[in-house]
Amino acid sequence: MKLIVVTGGVMSWLGKWITAASIGILMKSSGYSVTMMKLDPYLQIDAGTMSPFEHGETFVTKDGFETDLDLWHYERFIDEELTREASVTTGQIYLSVIQNEREGKYLGKTVQVIPHVTNEIKDRIHKASDGKDLTIIEIWGTVWDIEWPHFIEAVRQLRREYGREDVMFVHVVPIICVSTSGEMKTKALQHSVIKLREMGVHPSILVCRTTKALTADAKRKIAMFSDLEEERIIEARDQKSIYSVPLAFQEQWLHDIISERLRWKKTDCHMEGWQKIVHNLLHPEHEINIAIAGKYTALDDSYISVVEALKHAWAFYKSKVNIHWLNTEELETKAWEADLKKFIKENDIHGILVPGGFGDRGIEWMINVADYARKNSIPYFGICLGMQVATISFARHVCGLAKAHSTEFDLNTPDPVIDFLEDQRTITKKWGTMRLGDYPAILAPGTKMYQLYKQTLGLTTEGPLTINERHRHRYEVNPKYHEILKKNGLVFSGMSPDGSLVEFSELKEHPCFIGTQAHPEFKSRLQKPHPMFLWLVKASLDASL
Ligand code: GLN
Repeated sequence: MKLIVVTGGVMSWLGKWITAASIGILMKSSGYSVTMMKLDPYLQIDAGTMSPFEHGETFVTKDGFETDLDLWHYERFIDEELTREASVTTGQIYLSVIQNEREGKYLGKTVQVIPHVTNEIKDRIHKASDGKDLTIIEIWGTVWDIEWPHFIEAVRQLRREYGREDVMFVHVVPIICVSTSGEMKTKALQHSVIKLREMGVHPSILVCRTTKALTADAKRKIAMFSDLEEERIIEARDQKSIYSVPLAFQEQWLHDIISERLRWKKTDCHMEGWQKIVHNLLHPEHEINIAIAGKYTALDDSYISVVEALKHAWAFYKSKVNIHWLNTEELETKAWEADLKKFIKENDIHGILVPGGFGDRGIEWMINVADYARKNSIPYFGICLGMQVATISFARHVCGLAKAHSTEFDLNTPDPVIDFLEDQRTITKKWGTMRLGDYPAILAPGTKMYQLYKQTLGLTTEGPLTINERHRHRYEVNPKYHEILKKNGLVFSGMSPDGSLVEFSELKEHPCFIGTQAHPEFKSRLQKPHPMFLWLVKASLDASL
């Protein structure tokens, strides 16, 4: 078992995850089994209680653990599903250590950062490594951060325990360019390497984030001061797409340098498939406009997984997806229909996506958007909350239940078409209590959803199809309303195995009016675009032609 530890120097926002995940895909494509994990300094146990306004979107692992998006980035690059073990926070570590202390597990010893906290971190790295050839560990933050030393100390100790050949450090640093002369300045990065060395860590590779090509002079200087061969100074220049980064690293033989450093024999690194898809992404033949209607549109990170899943479908159909944000809060006015019409016309919108969300801000507007898309045959894809608002609008405008609502937004609605499950009523805790993680659904033969999944998964079998999707929600389509919704033409294309929960819905007489209670964006990959995103992009493409 080998470890690569990815650290960052000088400043945050260097995209350490891209370096870590790119190394992951390169080593996997070289024939090694790879897993990844993140060490986070937060005192939170998980990301379940963090606001998307402050922290970006929340991800959920297949075993139902809420984390920040880095884990999703890893999953989609290395195409492996990770578990809760892959997300370690300082909060988890201290909670365990303090619990152990209260249970007398330290036999009267003084409980300290070294060894008790560092041992706990090391144990968790062992657990997450799970017999894989290689575990890539990203440490949050920047050298010098006050919340950082216990993590670096733990991995430093692991290098002693495993041996130098089995643990290596990759340090990601910025190259600072002087705006007037264009000269590349390396002093700051030199200092961060020195600081790392003070903590007993000597990076084997420096990944240099730069807007321009690294000059030979800068490379020589960095190599000299960081005591590395020049080939180990990797240029990480801004790319047109994040998916190009592994290819740029491959061109610099990063996979070979790593194999050599870890005493593995060099193998061919097969990135041909990835390369072809990236080519399609960068050279689209068509262009479509999709509106994403949500309330967190001000923060780029809030819907990043939806945006990336759309890119996966874009590469598949060679059809560039321009995204137009529709802030449902700002646009909630009496003249909504005229406003929406104008927005659609001005931006030449071909499809609408309503992503997941919580709270009632902008909700009436979302319901109206779903209704407008249904009536005007505009492709519509509702994810979780997006499916719930589509169901509410269908109940109101097709089933004649004018006051239908979700009890999340109106506790006194006479027609709670979206409601809690019974066991959720008594819950007061704020974390870990939703329907979280992978849940199976059975797709009904004869539906478009069934056809699409089968086609995308390359299956030829007949009969019902069981698939798994990620969930993160509390509310469901109320079983008391299944009959009336169905009778009026809403097709439940996928149900939970016991038939009680609606997992997928669609409309027959509509080019694409689809919804799911799950978060399919979390399972989409560049190499394996998700069927529902493919459907939306294809229908929007058809609408544009
Ligand atoms: N707020 C809704 C629920 O809890 C939808 C959640 C979501 O979109 N993830 O069911």
